[in-house]
Amino acid sequence: MKEYVRILDVPEESLKRAYLTVSCSGCNLSKKIKADVFLSHPVVKVKCPCGCETKYILNRRHHHRKRVNIPVEITLLSSDTVRLVPKITGVVKDISVTGVGVNTSNYRSYNIGDIVELRFKLPTSENYIVKRGIVMCHDHKRKRIGIKYIDDGGVDRQISLFMRS
Ligand SMILES: [Zn+2]
Repeated sequence: MKEYVRILDVPEESLKRAYLTVSCSGCNLSKKIKADVFLSHPVVKVKCPCGCETKYILNRRHHHRKRVNIPVEITLLSSDTVRLVPKITGVVKDISVTGVGVNTSNYRSYNIGDIVELRFKLPTSENYIVKRGIVMCHDHKRKRIGIKYIDDGGVDRQISLFMRS
């Protein structure tokens, strides 16, 4: 069985529809999945009759991003491939209400679809923010990984206040 990971870049309007059409990464067969499953599941697995399994991750980072330089600790929580990855450190280079872009020399340690925990302090606060996230993209040139928050479903209050500061 072949497994794939796909990032779904869909406009916000499409999420108001009942179904999203996705296609198998192996044989291209299209299938409709309920749009609202993405509200409760960060990763949606779809098995195709051809035997392939594709994991779909919704990209909703179309929000305004703020450029920052914030140290961050990243811990791997779950992954499909068993790896021994220690806690890594990096720098949050941009932040939005839905996720962060992190620069780290250890960017190769993580794969798309990995679930991680982020720990960082906003410049406006003394408290650590701890967020769960999913690795959405790798940028090898910039040694950057894009991570989307997956906890609390809604918008983090501290982060949204910071975005408006
Ligand atoms: Zn297929």
